[in-house]
This record gives sequence, C-alpha cells and structure tokens, in this order.
Amino acid sequence: MSVLTTGGTIAQQTARTTASGALGVAVPGFDVTRLLPGDRLDVALSVRSVSAKGSKDMRATDWLAMAAAVVEEIAAGADGVVLVHGTDTMHYTAAALSFVLGPVPVPVVLTGSMRPGGDPDSDGAANLRDAVRTAATADLGEVVVVFSGDADRRGPATILRGNRARKVHSTALNAFASPALAPLGAVGESVVLSAHARPKGGSPPRPSPAFAEDVALVTVTPTTTAPLLAGWLAPLSGVVLAGTGTGHVHADLVPVLADLGARGGAVVMSSQAAAGGERLGAYSGDLTPEVVPGLVGAGAMTAEAALVKLMWVLGRGADPEQVGVDRAGELAERW
Ligand code: ASP
Repeated sequence: MSVLTTGGTIAQQTARTTASGALGVAVPGFDVTRLLPGDRLDVALSVRSVSAKGSKDMRATDWLAMAAAVVEEIAAGADGVVLVHGTDTMHYTAAALSFVLGPVPVPVVLTGSMRPGGDPDSDGAANLRDAVRTAATADLGEVVVVFSGDADRRGPATILRGNRARKVHSTALNAFASPALAPLGAVGESVVLSAHARPKGGSPPRPSPAFAEDVALVTVTPTTTAPLLAGWLAPLSGVVLAGTGTGHVHADLVPVLADLGARGGAVVMSSQAAAGGERLGAYSGDLTPEVVPGLVGAGAMTAEAALVKLMWVLGRGADPEQVGVDRAGELAERW
C-alpha cells in the first residue's frame, strides 16, 4: 500500500514561541511518517513525498502531479493509495482525481488533519490510521475522503465520495461532509461500506493531459452587477455560477452570460446553497440554453466539483455539455 504525502496542517507543528509556553503558530516541517500506524495495522506501507505545501497553494499542476503519482503506484502494484493532503482544498483535489482517474482498481483515499500533526492533540494519527485501514481493506473503486465523523474524534471516521465532499467547517475535527450524498461508509475497527459505494474495478487509469485554468467560480450576490460580471468574464472561456437558490441570477446579468455563450464560452449553473444543488426549470424565468447558449446545469454537483469538472472537460477539448454527464458518481447516487 502506498502513502503519498503532499503537505498540509498534518505536516506541521505548533511552534511554542512565548516564554509562558502559550501556543504559537503552526509551522511546516513535521515528519508525517511519524503518524503512520506502523505495526498496529498489519499493512506494509511504502511512503513517497509528492510535494510539501499547504493545499491553499495548490493549483491544477499539483493535481496532475498527484494523479501521475497515483497512476505510477497502481501500475507498480499498490493495492491501495493514501494521499496525505491539506484540508483547505482537499475536496477540489479529490474531485480532480476522480475525474482524471475515473473508476479505479484500488481505493484512493485522501486525508489530513485539522490540528497540526506534530501537536499532542492532533487528529492526524487517527485520520491516517483510518485512511490506511480503508485503502488496505475496503472493496472500494473510488477516490474518497476519510475524515473524522464527529467533533471529538472518538467515533468511527466517515468515508465520503471525494467529488461530493465539501469542507463544511473551518476548525472542527469533523470538517468534511457530502451534503447531497450519504457517506459511502464508516471506519472503526473495520470498514463498513454502504450499498452505493463503488467496488474495485476499472482498467488502470491514465492521467489526462491538462486542466483548463481560464475558468472561474463566481458566487452571485446582490452586488454582482452586469459591468462587474462582464469584466470578470472577459478573459474566461467558461464560468461556473454559484447562483442563488436553485440556480438563479439577477435579471441584469442574463445578457452578459448570453454574450459569453455566444462567443463559445461555457456557462455552468450551480447553487450557492449548502445542499440541494441546481434545479433549472423550477421557475418560469430560469435560464435556458435558448437564452444563454452553452448553458449546462450542475445538478447535484457541488459548485467546487462543477468548477473542477469544467476545468477537466475543457482541458480535454471536450464539449461543455459533458459537464452534465456523470463521470465518477458526482451526479449519480449509484455509480
Ligand atoms: N491550510 C491548511 C492546508 O490546507 C489547512 C489544513 O491542512 O488543514 O494545507
């Protein structure tokens, strides 16, 4: 089984810089391998560093490097892969890997920690243990996030489909949830999977060549005016809108979006609501492809997953309509 490290809070330690011993700031440089379960789980691990950065600093090139490393590990015979990652953008990376890799022959598990890995109260070792247990033993052919299922890290960890996951809390130990899909399972002494978890399978994946980066996720708010939006969209080949409610924008913005569509740009509508997704057509004034050429609904996808999917679709030179076609269980319950 392979463990790939990339950095994040789990690879940090709080520097106690004051004479009174008060907590200081978290700094990088903690050796994550010290948190590995070792003999406690009967699993042979090989460890490799892909990067050493906070996930806020990651871009599409990092996703491609991680995808390439996962593919190499699987090709070399790994029966599971754990990616140790910062939490801030873990769900973007999980979505990116799910689209690049598609169905996978072994579990690909992302985890990290909310408290610095080198601190005595860190959740890192428990998350890592449960991620390793999942990757080593679960009949799971998906990219997943394994993270604490509760606020004090006492109960089982939760297994979430990576492209449905969201960071829902900025400090709590149970920072991840998949609001539109029940967890794929739980990890205690053993892994218990739900019926909608996809079993191992699929041919060994090949990484895709690129992600388009001239796209943006725009949350529509009461201050989003037509001139503002037009300026934002000018350099872009596509946009994901986090619309209000089931996928609405202010009426003033419609011509701006129609312009983007008319010049061949992609317009993907998602929702800024925490759960529920887009439901274009629920209201009479909703956008349609007749009004905004190139319009695609994100359906149940999170806005973050929709952004990554648009980057993936355009990066492959595919039709933006492919954003609306399920690739890795991001739209469908059962994959
Ligand atoms: N800022 C950190 C990161 O995403 C947070 C974490 O790892 O929890 O890398």
